[in-house]
Amino acid sequence: MLRSQNEYRASARKITIYNTLGGEKRVFEPIDKSPVSPRVKMYVCGLTPQDHSHMGHGLMAFRFDLIRRYLMYRRLDVHFVQNVTDIDDKIIAKERELGVDPMVMTRVFTDEFYATIQKFNVLPVDKLVKVTECVPEVITFIEELIKKGFAYATDDGSVYFDVAKKDDYGKLSNQNTAMLYESVRKELDKEKRSPLDFALWKADQSTTLSRPSPWGIGRPGWHIECSVMIHETLGDHIDIHGGGLDLKFPHHENEIAQSEAYTGGSFSDVWMHSGLLNINGQKMSKSLNNFVRLTDAMERYGTEPLKFVIARHHYRSSIDLSDKLFRDNLNALLDFHRLFARVPNARVNETLMHDGETVAVMSAFEAAMDNDFNSPEALVALEQFRAKIVQALDAAGAPTAEIEHRVGVLRELGIILGIFFENLDVIETQGLKIIGQILNASPCTPGDIQGLLTERVEARAAKNFARSDEIRKELAARGVEVLDSKAGSTWRFA
Ligand SMILES: [Zn+2]
Repeated sequence: MLRSQNEYRASARKITIYNTLGGEKRVFEPIDKSPVSPRVKMYVCGLTPQDHSHMGHGLMAFRFDLIRRYLMYRRLDVHFVQNVTDIDDKIIAKERELGVDPMVMTRVFTDEFYATIQKFNVLPVDKLVKVTECVPEVITFIEELIKKGFAYATDDGSVYFDVAKKDDYGKLSNQNTAMLYESVRKELDKEKRSPLDFALWKADQSTTLSRPSPWGIGRPGWHIECSVMIHETLGDHIDIHGGGLDLKFPHHENEIAQSEAYTGGSFSDVWMHSGLLNINGQKMSKSLNNFVRLTDAMERYGTEPLKFVIARHHYRSSIDLSDKLFRDNLNALLDFHRLFARVPNARVNETLMHDGETVAVMSAFEAAMDNDFNSPEALVALEQFRAKIVQALDAAGAPTAEIEHRVGVLRELGIILGIFFENLDVIETQGLKIIGQILNASPCTPGDIQGLLTERVEARAAKNFARSDEIRKELAARGVEVLDSKAGSTWRFA
């Protein structure tokens, strides 16, 4: 993988990250003070495997993979941990409803998810941690919170976090306990001291996931699970905590309260939240019943086209998945791959790293990505670089060593954005399939198109312009536009 020319600490420019905690962009300084490749501890809330994973899970995985890759490019030694919430209300509800073994079900859906995102070229996590593997650690953690006066056990065998004991509760979502108290339903719960208090341990004998504890048979609450898994895998103080915007409150707020009550210090320096996913202009939700399975999205839109449209949106913005979005983006992706196909021996040449164009594109790429991982702007820099290379290639007639190097750099920078892992044939095939779906027509293959283009050349050579026009129309009906130039005819998505 291509790396930035300078060590992170030695480079003049640093990465600024929008931190939800504090609500502003700040320069990123890793906790580890090593001058060379400092370690970055990064945790992103993972799957609750109670069903097939949906496109929202994919979006999160792709976005944090892009962020992680860029941190690695900037010579930071990222240690990336993700959890599996395999003890949860929804999982227990499924166990009750369907009589399934929750351990088997969660394993099947977890394996399916990670196998699927691997097809999208997402880097494997450094450590995957499951709640079922850390229940004793959860119990020890809760005991410590009780000892410190931040939690209390109730007569029914549950344990709650005492929100009133944590003065800065609400700092992530920018709310205070008085405001929150006004907004909650003051349900009559004799067990809890305040309606804001949340469960650390739930008395529960109904599930095979229940375990004995000092408070009786039960299971962990959702929020404590993440605090404990982070504590066990990364320690008390981490660099980056990520997740979807929908997790900010109460999940992440509660994680902070528990972890900081436990240590007395700060928990995560940076809190990053990914924007939400819409489907055809509507929020993806249970009530609208418009969940799109990740495997279905992969089938409909292909792997790299999906990654490409996501990289063209900033990670904090919401994204509206629709056929139109792909129609509008496919040619830009095709242009990159047409260039890669013209320069089959492209590779980064270390002796040419000081080439002016290389320095310029890497600098523009870094300026964009250092600014809170602005991948759409980074892609603009890559598109401009691509156009310049095409010009040079057209002028030279054949790839020179310099062109091969520049295309190598272009490709590697794209890989950091999580794209350019497929070849031209795959992109053309997936693109034609998407266009076919939009037009409600049976998709044609790149081979079909090439056949028609060849026939058209022959018709034109034989001065059969009627047939040539017919072919152009036929291609147009299939969503393909013919482009004629001195070099010959080629095609794009119409
Ligand atoms: Zn979490």
